[in-house]
Amino acid sequence: AKDKKDGGIVVATNKLVAQFEEDKNLEKELKKALYTEGIIPYFQPKVDLQTNDIVGIEALARWIHPERGIISPVVFIPLAEKTGLIQKLDFLIAESTIKKLKKWIDQDLVSNDFKGSFNISVKTFEEEDVYEQIKFLLNKYDLPGKNIEVEVTENIFINKLSKMLDELKFLKEDLGASIALDDFTAGHASLRGLSQLTVDTLKFDKSLLQIIKENSEKGKNIYSTLVKLSKDMGYTSVAEGIENVDESDFLKKEGVDYGQGFYFAKPMAEDKFVEFIGKRDG
Ligand code: C2E
Ligand code: CA
Ligand code: CA
Ligand code: CA
Repeated sequence: AKDKKDGGIVVATNKLVAQFEEDKNLEKELKKALYTEGIIPYFQPKVDLQTNDIVGIEALARWIHPERGIISPVVFIPLAEKTGLIQKLDFLIAESTIKKLKKWIDQDLVSNDFKGSFNISVKTFEEEDVYEQIKFLLNKYDLPGKNIEVEVTENIFINKLSKMLDELKFLKEDLGASIALDDFTAGHASLRGLSQLTVDTLKFDKSLLQIIKENSEKGKNIYSTLVKLSKDMGYTSVAEGIENVDESDFLKKEGVDYGQGFYFAKPMAEDKFVEFIGKRDG
């Protein structure tokens, strides 16, 4: 009989090699997709919790793969960050969003104040001048900066923190863009991020609503306290991951400004979003 231990190692090694080759293939395919419009934004509506108006969208990347179908960003964002493709991806989604916002506003499909959010990875801030790139894109499509919001997560491991802080400041002060701190309370250093970054908006992570499900009263108290903190400090608040009417009612009562979640709408391709917003207005 074979030595069990050695056999285990061989299997593990083979698995690793297979995983590695799979990654290599996926990396090649991801690169190709980035240059052939294989990656597109889906749009999730952002709702004013007090009035029920759709005030904006968040753009979320989707990989439309010819054989594998729609691949989740949970899979390919980490791969893009590992392989240096994330900058290309982030600016692709930013450009596409800016272009579509301009079109929707010109067509009166949405109001002049409609805001489109997109996610910029901390890695992208390390490698690129995000301020210059976004400025270029806003100019290219003739869209005012007030129509965009840049979502960032704080990251205690960032190498070029002061560069990122400066660029966020310029995005806000020079271009008039909003800055949102994403996944608030989900990271290790959310409060540190809050004290350092130039931020207009706090996006409460969907895991916070999970606390309410698990431990109703205490969870609600925690959420209320964070909303109060947010208000006292003058931030706009957005609740993520709203899945039912009870959550929506609770957040509305607490005075949270905006909400996103499957209860209102899932992220949609452009044609579906246009249909969705047309129906709501008409
Ligand atoms: P995120 O920025 O926190 O985006 C919110 C995620 O929650 C999205 O997942 C969205 O589809 C999902 N979501 C929305 N409503 C609900 C709900 O009611 N319940 C639940 N359970 N989930 C909900 P998605 O689209 O899979 O994106 C995952 C993450 O990938 C994003 O999290 C973001 O961190 C990253 N990502 C997506 N697109 C981009 C991009 O263009 N650039 C970068 N750097 N990251 C991106
Ligand atoms: Ca986000
Ligand atoms: Ca988030
Ligand atoms: Ca998240």
